[in-house]
Amino acid sequence: MARAGTGTNQEAVRRHNLGTVLRYVHRTGSTSRASLTSQMALNRSTIGGLAATLEDLGLVRRSTPVASRAGAGRPSAGLEVVSRRAYVLAIDVGVDRVVVGRVGLGCDVEVRARVNLPPEPAPEHVAETIVGLVAAVRADASPESTLVGVGISVPGVVREADGMVVFAPNLGWHEVPFAALVRERLGLTVDHVIANDADLGARAEHVRGAGVAVDHLVYVSGDVGVGAGVITDGRPLGGAGGFAGEIGHMSFAPNGLRCHCGSRGCWETQVGAVAIARAIGAPADVVPTLDAVLDDFDGPPESLHEIAHHVGHGLANVINMLNPQVVVLGGYLASLHRLVEPEILAAVRSGVMSAAGGQVLVTRPTLGADTVLVGAAEAAFESLLADPAGVLSR
Ligand SMILES: [Zn+2]
Repeated sequence: MARAGTGTNQEAVRRHNLGTVLRYVHRTGSTSRASLTSQMALNRSTIGGLAATLEDLGLVRRSTPVASRAGAGRPSAGLEVVSRRAYVLAIDVGVDRVVVGRVGLGCDVEVRARVNLPPEPAPEHVAETIVGLVAAVRADASPESTLVGVGISVPGVVREADGMVVFAPNLGWHEVPFAALVRERLGLTVDHVIANDADLGARAEHVRGAGVAVDHLVYVSGDVGVGAGVITDGRPLGGAGGFAGEIGHMSFAPNGLRCHCGSRGCWETQVGAVAIARAIGAPADVVPTLDAVLDDFDGPPESLHEIAHHVGHGLANVINMLNPQVVVLGGYLASLHRLVEPEILAAVRSGVMSAAGGQVLVTRPTLGADTVLVGAAEAAFESLLADPAGVLSR
């Protein structure tokens, strides 16, 4: 029995190591066996065996040998990801539109499709819309490419464990079992994962964007409302129920405007899309597309200075609380940052403790408009990266 147990453990370790090698190649696109050997603290022959198994599964292939960093010694055998071998469906539900992407291994966004949504759309309507978009993006998928997961982003409070959208105020959703609804309509047997848009944005920028090699990052999303995804010590910060990061509802002006959450004077009432549209004299119906409005904005920048001050002041609170190295402003906040970066930074500097704020970089997403889509794809690839051989043999 002991021997059987050991064998089972060895098999589990091997599966885990296989996933770790694939994760590394997935993240980097290409690497060398020498680099894997040093990263994983395994010997060359073990790495060679794992790489050969991944080659047999069609997930990686050999590439041009890579010269060692020092320039000395033999070039090491290269490995690169085979993007078309496996793909996921990444679904980004926004307040005014849905985007579905077919995303190949290595997070190559091969094709995307988008449909606008009516105000406060019914969950069933959104699920039906997704079915149509999925059919469109799968239509020309290679027959050798295996679907391995579905990742869904929603702008709201999400309980990832059972796929429940607890509260998405800007969609008008309360307690919607949205992951189950999408799974039922799509009729696909792969894993479906769902998460909050800002959490997925943080994940994407951490793995592939402005926060690569950064262990402490805050991604602040602006999509009508304001939320944050937090990476601390290299891991997502969830909180007791997984709901951490609702920074749009920090109390900012206790006697201020009523917020849709029921409270008064939340940060979102001062820096949300409604407040910005009001500040620049834009009609209320542009609120869902405020990023595009700001990208074309040619009015006086002074009309945005008070908003910039509120944004910077709120960010200073976040920086004092979490001590990040990088703060990434996504959605319409990226567009705002492009217009009034000096004013935002001045307000950040005036509000941060020097110890917490001395080194912080406030920037825009490197992945641009794809940030949340890529985050949803990363979440959907998780089961393949945990057990490549197991998932492909299902
Ligand atoms: Zn609120």
